[in-house]
Amino acid sequence: MDEVETLLKELTEASGIPGYETEVRRLIQNRFRQLGEVSHDRLGSVICRKCGEASEPKVMLAAHMDEIGFMVSHITKDGFIRFAALGGWWDHVLLAQRVAIKTTRGDVIGTIGAKPPHLLSDEERAKMVDKKNMYIDIGATSSDEVEQAGVRVADPIVPVSVFTILASGKTYLSKAFDDRAGCAVVLTVMKRMLNIPHPNTLFAVATVQEEVGLRGATTSVKVVCPDVAIVLEGTGVNDMPGTAEEGQVLRLGGGPVVTFYRRDMIPNRGLRNLLTDTATKHGIPFQIRADRIRGGTDGAAIHLHDSGVPTVVLSLPVRYVHSHGGIMHRGDFDAAVELLTAVIQELDQKIVSGMTAW
Ligand SMILES: [Zn+2]
Repeated sequence: MDEVETLLKELTEASGIPGYETEVRRLIQNRFRQLGEVSHDRLGSVICRKCGEASEPKVMLAAHMDEIGFMVSHITKDGFIRFAALGGWWDHVLLAQRVAIKTTRGDVIGTIGAKPPHLLSDEERAKMVDKKNMYIDIGATSSDEVEQAGVRVADPIVPVSVFTILASGKTYLSKAFDDRAGCAVVLTVMKRMLNIPHPNTLFAVATVQEEVGLRGATTSVKVVCPDVAIVLEGTGVNDMPGTAEEGQVLRLGGGPVVTFYRRDMIPNRGLRNLLTDTATKHGIPFQIRADRIRGGTDGAAIHLHDSGVPTVVLSLPVRYVHSHGGIMHRGDFDAAVELLTAVIQELDQKIVSGMTAW
C-alpha cells in the first residue's frame, strides 16, 4: 500500500459516529500537528491553521470526520439489542451485516438480524424489512449475558468493514468513504502545501456531527470566520445498472464532482468557475452536478455564516455510499488533490474580494 492507501485504510477503519468521534479525531489531530497550528471548536471539530504569504484571505477546507452508525437503544430480556440509527441508513443494506458495539470494556461484535424468511408469510416476504424490526445479535441468550459482555444502553455501534484494494488496483472498497475520503484529500493537500507558496492562510477543518445536521460545521465556521470555503464530500453516483438513462450520469472514475446546484446551497459563481476553469487549464478531469439531490453537506451551514461566505462543494464519487461496502476510485482522489492544490495557489485577496463584489 502506498501513502494514500495507508491513509484511507487508517481513516475509514477508525470508528466515529456523530458525537463519538474520539478515535478518528485522534488520528486526524496527530496528522494535523505535523502540518500547522491545531485548535478545535467546542463540539470537537479540529482545525489546522497554516499561514502562507498573507494572513488573508482565510481559506477554509472542510471535511466531516463522523460516519453513520447506530446506538444501543434497548436490550431485550432474551439478549437481543435494539438500536437507533444515527444518520441516513437505507434498511436494505443492513441485514446480516457485521457491527461492533463500542463498550467501555472494548468492542463487542454482532450481526444485524430479523425474523428469517422461512418464518415469514408470503406477504411479509415480499416487503422490505423495516429497521425498526431488526436487532443486533451478539450470540447471547439472555440480557444478563449481554450485560456481562459490557454492553450498555447508549453505547455507540459502528459498521465493521475492512479497507480492501480491488482487482483493478485503482478502486477501493470500505465503509465511511463519506467523508473520510474527503478528510484524506484535505490531509494530503495540506501536506503538499508545506512546500508550495500560497497567497493566503489555510484552515483545514475536520468537522463533527455532519450526518445528524451539519453541527460541527455550524460551530467551527464561527471559530475560523473564513473569507472563502471549499467543502470536500463523498457523494453517491448513478453509473450502475438500472439507473434512468435520461438523467444526468455521474460516474466513478470521471473525476471529482463540482456541485452547481443543490437544494441546500447554491455555490458562489466566481468560486465555482475558478474550480472548473482551473481544472480545464491543468487538464484535470471533473464532473458537474446540478440536481435536486437529497441530503445536505457542511457547505449549507458554512455558506450562511455571518453575512455569507463564498463556498463550493467538491465531491468524490462513491458507489453505495452510506453502506458497509462503498467503492471509490483513486483517479478521482488524485484529481481532487491536484485541483485543490492548484486552486489554493490562485486564492489571493484580489480574487476572493472579487467573488463578493456585486
Ligand atoms: Zn458526508
